[in-house]
Parts: sequence; structure tokens; C-alpha cells
Amino acid sequence: MSTNIRINGDRLWQSLMRLAEIGATEKGGVCRLALTDLDREARDLFVSWCKDAGCTVTIDKMGNIFARRAGRDNSLPPIMTGSHLDTQPTGGKFDGAYGVLAGLEVIRTLNDHGAETQAPVEVVAWTNEEGSRFAPAMVASGVFGGAFDLEYALSRADTEGKTMGEELKRIGYFGDQEVGGRKVGAFFEAHIEQGPILEAEKKQVGVVQGVQGIRWYEIVVTGQEAHAGPTPMKRRKDALVGAARMVGHVNRIGLEHQPYACATVGMMQVSPNSRNTIPGKVFFTVDFRHPDEAILNKMDAALRKACEDEARAIGLSLDLKEIWYSPPVKFARECVSAVEGAAKSLGYAHMPIISGAGHDAVYLSRVAPTAMVFVPCEDGISHNEIENASKDDVAAGCDVLLRAMIERANAPA
Ligand SMILES: [Zn+2]
Repeated sequence: MSTNIRINGDRLWQSLMRLAEIGATEKGGVCRLALTDLDREARDLFVSWCKDAGCTVTIDKMGNIFARRAGRDNSLPPIMTGSHLDTQPTGGKFDGAYGVLAGLEVIRTLNDHGAETQAPVEVVAWTNEEGSRFAPAMVASGVFGGAFDLEYALSRADTEGKTMGEELKRIGYFGDQEVGGRKVGAFFEAHIEQGPILEAEKKQVGVVQGVQGIRWYEIVVTGQEAHAGPTPMKRRKDALVGAARMVGHVNRIGLEHQPYACATVGMMQVSPNSRNTIPGKVFFTVDFRHPDEAILNKMDAALRKACEDEARAIGLSLDLKEIWYSPPVKFARECVSAVEGAAKSLGYAHMPIISGAGHDAVYLSRVAPTAMVFVPCEDGISHNEIENASKDDVAAGCDVLLRAMIERANAPA
């Protein structure tokens, strides 16, 4: 088979724009929350496109949609690609939709050229990746990857108390297939970067090496409330002064572990929050991210020491809890190489990159060799109605996806 086949960039772009009409917002974005009527409309369109492309479509009990193009040897596990069709409430046209439609374009291109692959090829649309209607995020690929129980996932409810299970049945996407428990030869996910690096470096393709780890903390600092006037400075146990110094340390720890570390205090509650009372209690959160587990551990130790030192200096009590840890993911060597090799042989400017956000590929990597392809997005902005990507870049990423998938589908088992 010719290894020089290319995807059809016009067709891919037209499909993206057609899909973006479903839930289109006035500002040019998309609002298509998981398992709403709009999500059903998008799913129906995707399924009809897959059937038109000759695929066999199956749906599992999480509503994940799989469209399969047969290979020469259908006893081999499929080479899979895909992403999600749901969006944030003020989402864009590309986050998720690109990965699903790039997969469809791979299948359409193979059809155009009558190209056979040894292993079958599948494109998948994962349910509720965003986690904005039903928390947690990536829950359906998480069930597939063995991170969550099916019962747990189906019982997740939105703010009105409607569960995923009920809503899947209502829109007709509670499928008959078991979730996961089958072999996947490889999983690839194409996605917009959602950050500014590729654009700044003038690269069309990011060869994603892995996904950074995340540690979340909740910290309560307790001092003593007192009158802001009669209490001399030296006698104070000001919880907010302590917390403010700790925030400074969080920022310092992030800066000390560049280029990859991110360290953020995004929420703070001051009590009693009264202008003439010295704050007695402060609650705040810390979000640490880094692709290397050893460095995340160092950041953890530095945070604990800094908070203890500052609390002691002012005479405050400290309650520091780690509430979530998502370990860093390193993608499979053979899949990362397939992506890199494809970008190189196609002549696209590319670079290695680490994903700062979570993706369905994180959970797939637990059960299959996995990698991702990133393309630039304008100004690094996503989860926003102005999210944008160029037609050339999305086509380049899809070409890389096609070539990497052909390589793995024809690799000796
Ligand atoms: Zn996404």
C-alpha cells in the first residue's frame, strides 16, 4: 500500500464546521453539554457519517460510540483513535470534536484509496469528557480504562439530579456492549494543544510525550480573631498574613522547577472576612502540576516545610491535606515514535510536548499503548467560544494521525 496517501483537509474542515453548527453560540463557539438533546444530535450525525463510510457502529453501556473499519485480520485488536463530542458551556469548535473527526477523516481517506490495513481501525467518541455537566471528567473513558466502576459512572448526577444512566437512556445511547474488557492494539488521540507553546515555537505538530501529574491540596490556617484597632501588631496571630506568605511560597516552588512546573492557588476563603477584624481562619487550595513524579514529590516536601515554617513563625495552627493525586502519564514508546516518525517523514515542523490538561488518552494508556498528536490553537486559548485553529494545522495533525495509525495497524503483532 502506498504510504504517501494524504487526508482531505477540505473535507475535514467542512465536517468540523458542520458539527459546530450543533449547539453553535452567538460568539462563534459551541455549547453542547454531555447527554443533552444537542449531544444526541451530534452523535446521530457522527454515526450517520461513520455508516456512510462503511463502518460497523457499536455503542457500549457508557454511550461510547465505536465505528470500526475492518482490517485484513480481524482477530487482531483494533488500532483506535478518537476523542469527545461534548463541550464546555462556553466551549469552542475544536476541543474534542477535532479528535473524533480526524479519526473519521482517517477512515474516509483509507476508503478513498482502497487501502487495507492488517489490523482493524476504530474511531471512538467518548461520553462526557469535559465533566462540566457530570463530574468527574473523562468518566466514560475512565470506565473503559478500569479507573471507575460502571455503576459509579452511571449514577453520576447533574445539578438537577438527573443521572448519566437516565440521560443515556433518554437520548437512546445506552448501548448493549460491555465497557472495555477487550484488547486495543494502540490508541491515538489528536487534540488542539490548549496552550501557547506550539504557536510560539512555530511548530505545526506536537509529539505528546505524556501528561503531567497533578496534586491538589486543601489548607486551613487558624490564628486568632481580634479587633483591628486595639490589637498591637506584635501580638497578632493573623491567619491571612500566614496564608499570604504561603501563597508566595507556592509561587516560588513553581518557579524553582521550571520549565514544566505549574503551581497555583486559585481559591481562598477568609474568615470572618470583615475589614476591622484580624482574620482568624483562612482556607485555600493548591494545585501543583509536573510531568515527573520525583519532582512533584520534591514540590510536595517544599510546600509542607514552607507552610509549617510560616505557621510556626506567626503562631498559627496548620491543617494541610492532599485531597487528590493524579500521577504523571508517560505514553508508550512505540506510539510516540510512530507519531514522531510520521511528522518527520511528512515534513511538518514538530516538537516534543507534555500535555498540561487531562484527556481521554490518560485512561486509555492504562489498557493500551497510547500517544497523542497536538496541533496549535490560536493564542493558546480553549474552553472559550473564541477557541480557534487553522485549517492547515488541523490537516497536518490529521495526516500525522493517519500515518501513525497505518504504521501501527500494519506492525507485526
Ligand atoms: Zn478535549
